[in-house]
Amino acid sequence: MGHATSSPSPGSPVHPDPGAAPLATAQAQLARAVEILGYDAGLHEVLATPRRELRVAVPLRRDDGAVQVCTGYRVQHNISRGPGKGGLRYAPGVDLDEVRALAMWMTWKCAVVDVPYGGAKGGVTIDPHAHSAAELERVTRRYTSEIMPIIGPERDIMAPDIGTNEQTMAWVMDTYSVNRGFTIPAVTTGKPLAVGGSLGRPTATSQGVVHTARAALRADGVELAEVTAAVQGFGKVGSHAARLLHEAGTRVVAVSDEHGGVRRADGLDVTALIEHVTRTGSVTGFADADAVSNDDLLALDVDVLVPAAVEGVLDGETAGHVKARWVVEGANGPTTSEGDRVLAERGVVVVPDILANAGGVVVSYFEWVQANQAYWWTEREIADRLEHRMLASHEAVADLARAESVTLREAAMTIGVRRVAEAHLIRGLYP
Ligand code: NAD
Repeated sequence: MGHATSSPSPGSPVHPDPGAAPLATAQAQLARAVEILGYDAGLHEVLATPRRELRVAVPLRRDDGAVQVCTGYRVQHNISRGPGKGGLRYAPGVDLDEVRALAMWMTWKCAVVDVPYGGAKGGVTIDPHAHSAAELERVTRRYTSEIMPIIGPERDIMAPDIGTNEQTMAWVMDTYSVNRGFTIPAVTTGKPLAVGGSLGRPTATSQGVVHTARAALRADGVELAEVTAAVQGFGKVGSHAARLLHEAGTRVVAVSDEHGGVRRADGLDVTALIEHVTRTGSVTGFADADAVSNDDLLALDVDVLVPAAVEGVLDGETAGHVKARWVVEGANGPTTSEGDRVLAERGVVVVPDILANAGGVVVSYFEWVQANQAYWWTEREIADRLEHRMLASHEAVADLARAESVTLREAAMTIGVRRVAEAHLIRGLYP
């Protein structure tokens, strides 16, 4: 199934095939890693089961006085290696299973890049485009109050995801702090600099996508400056990924968002495109470019494809049309299990989400460390440490994939799952 190109709900893919739903994909990936590692059924069940799940009602007073009730979730999938860590998503279609899948991916991601966190995720059933800033602030503050008992710098740390941003994180931090009676910046990451954010965080996920893309191409003797790319999703991750690829010399020939896409064979002017999006709210209608649908973008004759929007866009059918040699997953869970099988069969190298988009959580970790110490690093220090950690993680994953003749996803999952299982087994089962 591909995504409709006419006004889909952001972040709310429809799943006529339950096997392609995010949680089914996440569980199938775990089952494969457990098979490779030879773990027993009990350990598999521990790793497959979220530690804590909280569902809350979030009543919202609209600007016109009417009241509407949203649903909020926070899932802590695993906390064996440290506090929960994960984004907060605002989208109308958010549901518990989607949040469970995203929390599980966070667990393995934090382990792959070796940051001392477990995996968590949150969501609220709201379309941020349909609400004023004042309404979004009220929803954020009420949601934060409702989940207060399970969050905190040493419990569970939030960050932006689809539909949320720096301002959302500032409201979460302020609500948490006001209720505790003092300022606690380390309860969220991805905050504005003025309230304890980190230099380099807004671009960290995309920077990580580009570091791992460069490493994956170099393994085949190819440089970013020699290739073409298409990027699906032009939000916090996709827009910076397109810009950074463009700056690295890659010809970015197509990009899209939830409203549709634009393409230009000799390369889009990404800087001008970002200005166009700031002005109009969408990539569509950009001058000197042709329109392209989201499905057609996935099938373009490019070298590198960066899905950076929502889950499940590369399924058994759409994966069969992919012409790119490398798929670098900026989004979480863009490829279903069937999509993965088809891509592997066709020799497409997939740099998996839990590695490719981990730059965000790496710099979130740096932000948390800086906030805890109240000592701020320079942009250079952050950029260098991010690059080092992304390249080292990529190398470990690529080495294992080569040694064991498995895909990069299987290798990344094996490393992530093994680290979590190790922590769990060493700690022991209480009581
Ligand atoms: P965002 O809300 O800033 O941007 C999302 C983009 O995707 C927008 O351009 C939107 O128009 C587009 N989009 C939404 N639905 C679409 C659809 N059905 N088809 C095509 N485009 C669609 O969100 P973001 O933070 O950039 O997150 C994008 C992806 O990256 C998500 O999967 C998220 O979980 C993942 N991710 C984000 C971060 C981060 O630091 N923000 C870190 C790791 C992974």
